[in-house]
Amino acid sequence: MRNESLDPILRPASVAVIGASRKPGTIGYQIIDNLVKHGYTGAVYPVNPSAASIHSIRAYRSVLEIPDPVDLAIVVVPKERVLEVVDECCAKGVRGLVVISAGFREVGGSGVERERALVERVRRHGMRLIGPNCMGVLNTAPDMSMNATFAPTMPPAGPAAFMSQSGALGVTILDYARELGIGIRQFVSVGNKPDVSGNDLLEYWEEDEAIRVILMYLESLGNPRKFTRIARRVTRRKPIVVVKSGRTAAGARAASSHTGALAGTDATADALFAQCGVIRVESVQALFDVALAFSHLPIPGGNRVAIVTNAGGPGIMIADACEAAGLEVVELTEETQARLRASMPEEASVRNPVDMIASATAESYRIALDAVLADPRVDAAIAAFVPPLGVRQQDVAAAIVEARRARPGKPLVAVLMGREGLPEGRAELGAAGVPAYIFPESAARALAAMDAYRRWLERPLGVVRTFEVDRGTVRRVIEDALAAGRMHLTTMEAMAILRAYGIPTVECRLARSADEAAAAAEAIGFPVVLKVLSRHIVHKSDVGGVAVDLRGPEEVRDAYRRMMQRIAEVAPGADVDGVLVQPFIKGGRETIIGMTLDRSFGPVLMFGLGGIYVEALGDVAFRVEPVSDVDAWEMVRGIRGRRLLEGFRGEPPADQALLVEVIQRVSQLVGEYHEIQELDINPFVAFEVGGLALDARIRVGPAESAPRGGLRDREREEATSSLLPAG
Ligand code: ADP
Ligand code: MG
Repeated sequence: MRNESLDPILRPASVAVIGASRKPGTIGYQIIDNLVKHGYTGAVYPVNPSAASIHSIRAYRSVLEIPDPVDLAIVVVPKERVLEVVDECCAKGVRGLVVISAGFREVGGSGVERERALVERVRRHGMRLIGPNCMGVLNTAPDMSMNATFAPTMPPAGPAAFMSQSGALGVTILDYARELGIGIRQFVSVGNKPDVSGNDLLEYWEEDEAIRVILMYLESLGNPRKFTRIARRVTRRKPIVVVKSGRTAAGARAASSHTGALAGTDATADALFAQCGVIRVESVQALFDVALAFSHLPIPGGNRVAIVTNAGGPGIMIADACEAAGLEVVELTEETQARLRASMPEEASVRNPVDMIASATAESYRIALDAVLADPRVDAAIAAFVPPLGVRQQDVAAAIVEARRARPGKPLVAVLMGREGLPEGRAELGAAGVPAYIFPESAARALAAMDAYRRWLERPLGVVRTFEVDRGTVRRVIEDALAAGRMHLTTMEAMAILRAYGIPTVECRLARSADEAAAAAEAIGFPVVLKVLSRHIVHKSDVGGVAVDLRGPEEVRDAYRRMMQRIAEVAPGADVDGVLVQPFIKGGRETIIGMTLDRSFGPVLMFGLGGIYVEALGDVAFRVEPVSDVDAWEMVRGIRGRRLLEGFRGEPPADQALLVEVIQRVSQLVGEYHEIQELDINPFVAFEVGGLALDARIRVGPAESAPRGGLRDREREEATSSLLPAG
């Protein structure tokens, strides 16, 4: 269902511009100019206390003087006057506000209070608010034709919706869109977004059939869980492409000082996007490359690409770029090759990349593109053209367009590498719905993004499983620790929690003396492992607190004494409760399964191979809780070292299905106990069949001090949405 509360902002019947100006070069002038110049279909009311008319339109001293109803007010007055004019808007019954003025939360100090007061008024009157600190909104739908921004350029109309968290970048983006021929249906610069968020816009755009692709420039996600839930649904209907800044640590710092928003960790953001089918790209350039393809082309049936070129070098470069992007430069069928051979000179190559050599004419392109697009092995094609003497780029462009029309079911893009005639060629192709790029990488990444989207559409949604578990034990252990003021659970307690959640753990016995340790070892059976048990020691082997492969009672007694002695030396003052005795586990593959609490994303689960793979190579996969079965499989199969789990060089495979289940059980555990702030199962040893947690570390804290504080998901949603006006 469309969220109609946004209609007064994006489909208003009338717009008041409060702070309209007669002076060219000001924002208050530019917005009126844009509304009028681009043919806004509704009524425009300039508001200015001292001008009788602006841009030949009668002006009003206050919004209250406007005789007719006003759907949307664009506010461009100085920050000190914003609350006052918003009060007037409330009195007037204005339904939507776009506050362009800056000087709110993004500047800190009194700006924070000013924003709070603004939002309070908006909520109280059931209005919706875009901004403050934004550059406006735009809707090119023919029945609206509304440019309520101060950008100097109007993008062409088309199927893309664009949300930008940066105002300045928004201007650039509209500029680019015009130049590259990317058709924009709606554009919203969200600013500080204390009311209308990216999530609201996603839901609004989800229902708009004219919008085929959603583009977002993000600096932060206000409510990541809600974003995931909405995006997961929206991406089933249309692609969402995101550039998220703050990739590097330096970028993240700049992002938080910029809009005053908190930027999450980057790996977490990647995980989150992967979980909801959002395509993340590296740059604004890449965003446009991909947007162009999604705007015009059908989703390919696979990743196999054919390349048709009139020069060998570009053909090879494009082939390399395709392979690097995960596309397959496929071998053409015999039949296709024969068809190509029949129409080409001897020196041409009819194998993929098809090199028609410099003598190729527009007609050669038409024939060759038709042949490769007809090939059942080919899912998409790239036509590359370097202008030689005697062939006009425009003619070739026309032939490419013809090929695209003749075979509309498969994506076709062009790479035009020459300077001469390039703009004309690109424009012609663009107008006819063939994305034309200058660089091979652009074409490759556009097709790769489309293929990633196809895989997402084919990927099952997955289910978040709820296992039968023993919650009483977990509650008791956590409460005991918190009551005693302990943050770190002992290994014994952590293991008990895992067991309560159905995660297999190695047998553990507590021993408080050398003799008790030897007796425990006898009961378990040799060889055994001793581990120091102390609430002060988190990393046991770092202090000599782990002794492995002990083969008899004497060895155990000996190891016990030596361990206590050593710990007294390196960790004096540590309270030692004794040792854990465990069977010594041979074989299997060591993995790590863990969770950390991200301050904006909540619990984030991690999977990786244990030992050096985690520490030296950082080879881990993340997913945000709740982790579905499909997510968990993607984690296990998503690490670079996955082959080690599949059985490598004669070594047995590891029980991947069990790893997947353990990840899901951990996800359930941390989702149900918000007191758990950090968790590490390191190692979890996976055998060919079965597996065991050998060590576990859990840090707890009062649930309300956790960033996502003690609320269940649903309660959290309700807590957020109850702040919004009904509907
Ligand atoms: P910590 O991580 O606190 O140093 P661990 O209990 O993880 O202590 O032990 C360190 C390493 O010793 C493990 O990563 C694993 O390689 C090995 N290890 C621990 N327990 C066993 C066991 N029961 N059988 C075999 N090896 C073990
Ligand atoms: Mg460990």
